[in-house]
Amino acid sequence: MPGPRFTSSFTQQEPISEDGVAAALAVMRSGRLHRYNTVPGEMAEAAALERDYAEWQGARYCLAVASGGQAMQIALRASGVGPGSVVLSNAFTLAPVPGAIAGVGARAALVEITPDLVIDLDDLQDKAQACGATHLLLSHMRGHLCDMDRLMEIAAARNLTVIEDCAHTMGATWSGRRSGNFGLAGCFSTQTYKHMNAGEGGLLTSNDADFMARATILSGSYMLHDRHGAGPGPDAYAAVRLETPNLSARMDNLRAALLRPQIARLDGNVRRWNRLHDHLAARLAAHPAIRLPRRPSQEGYVGSSIQFLIPGISDRNAAGFVSRAAADGVELKWFGAPEPAGFTSTHHSWRYMPAQALPRTDALLAVLFDMRLPLTFDIDDCEVIAEVLLAAADRSDLAGAA
Ligand SMILES: *Cc1c(COP(=O)(O)O)cnc(C)c1O
Repeated sequence: MPGPRFTSSFTQQEPISEDGVAAALAVMRSGRLHRYNTVPGEMAEAAALERDYAEWQGARYCLAVASGGQAMQIALRASGVGPGSVVLSNAFTLAPVPGAIAGVGARAALVEITPDLVIDLDDLQDKAQACGATHLLLSHMRGHLCDMDRLMEIAAARNLTVIEDCAHTMGATWSGRRSGNFGLAGCFSTQTYKHMNAGEGGLLTSNDADFMARATILSGSYMLHDRHGAGPGPDAYAAVRLETPNLSARMDNLRAALLRPQIARLDGNVRRWNRLHDHLAARLAAHPAIRLPRRPSQEGYVGSSIQFLIPGISDRNAAGFVSRAAADGVELKWFGAPEPAGFTSTHHSWRYMPAQALPRTDALLAVLFDMRLPLTFDIDDCEVIAEVLLAAADRSDLAGAA
């Protein structure tokens, strides 16, 4: 009897809703796609998006930019990072994070992660002391939040400016407070595989007027910063407007029009993602060899992807397990592969930075598996995925090398 087989696509997102399509058509029909191309009295879609997202996020200011990576690069630069600076970051993240640090000419000091896939706060404390870093670019990788209370205590004690990479935590909370609202700034991505979909795009939020004025000019505001209703007032720009370069990383009105109606659907989508995630998590956790990262009670997560570990599995057996799952239609990412395939989340493939010894992170990545959960899936899909994975596990040797 043939086993279960999964046939849906892990990269298929939901369509843009009709209200988003209508708003995008209206922008196209107006011909005014550039955010500063407005008629008197008109608020551009990009400015309206900034206003709406700031309100939803609970941040004083919001700036729409070209990508999540640009949001991070601008945030680092606007907060004083430059050539010679040292920026701490967790070692398990995606390439745009070390890329943003390299992009401003700074040096990344990578911090170990824990078996729950969050930054190791003891290692953070040690490295902050040892390497003289001024900033922490904290990546809430795959939606896992560390103990944010303790992290902010450490940052305060060590004088570290915290910038949050919230590409996987738009809508997530720690003790009821939204991720992105803990540090100086929150950086979000609106690229197709994140929590809102405009193809590309990014959002930067902060409560700091001076920081936001610099960020707005860096984003390429051509001295039109008065068209940023969700930005600081004119006073904040006086000292920085001629001292800050223009990096041209704006968002256009078309993307903003696609995004604006999505804000109202975020909370509902978080619940939909978590139903899928929690169903699959419960099925996988029942397998004796599979371990799910612990999710602390303070964490309000967004299960737009799922991670699990098979502690002790050898590289060879991990590769076998992945290929058996793939043969039955389930696309797993495995972070222990020697060559990055379609994603780069292992520090060994970031050769533009000095090599760093991260033995605990390496050991975890070698036994870590990951899957996207697009909202085009339903609970029945998750059930088939679970059956495929459990059957692949039963047919695989999940042990270490002899
Ligand atoms: C996607 C992503 C980003 C930003 O991505 P862009 O493609 O630049 O919008 C940042 N951090 C992580 C962890 C990501 O996965």
